[in-house]
Amino acid sequence: MEDYYALLKCTPDATPLQIKQSYQRLAREYHPDKGALSSENFLAIDKAYKILKDELSRKDYDSTTFASTCNQHSLIYAELAKEDIRLDCEGRAFYPCRCGEDFLIEKEHLEEPECVIECGECSNSILIR
Ligand SMILES: [Zn+2]
Repeated sequence: MEDYYALLKCTPDATPLQIKQSYQRLAREYHPDKGALSSENFLAIDKAYKILKDELSRKDYDSTTFASTCNQHSLIYAELAKEDIRLDCEGRAFYPCRCGEDFLIEKEHLEEPECVIECGECSNSILIR
């Protein structure tokens, strides 16, 4: 599957306005008037923008891409190495989430080869391995 965000030089967390501005800038750059190569690029970003400008088709696109890369529907916010995690005396550790909550990491999470912990507040997750 094509990476529409990369085509539009955006990140998956870009706002609709950022996507629109980026598309407009690229559309000027790749305008078909500028030659055969740019018209191909123009069609590619046009297709990407049609998907990402619509909230529903963007969600749909996001869920298929994230599902194909990690089997998890939630967003992996950070990847942590087990050896970097220091548990406190109660066998717990906290990692700050973007939403202001903390991910709670417990001893049993570290016993699995790979573990995804979801934030209680938002849809972000962290991956521990
Ligand atoms: Zn969160």
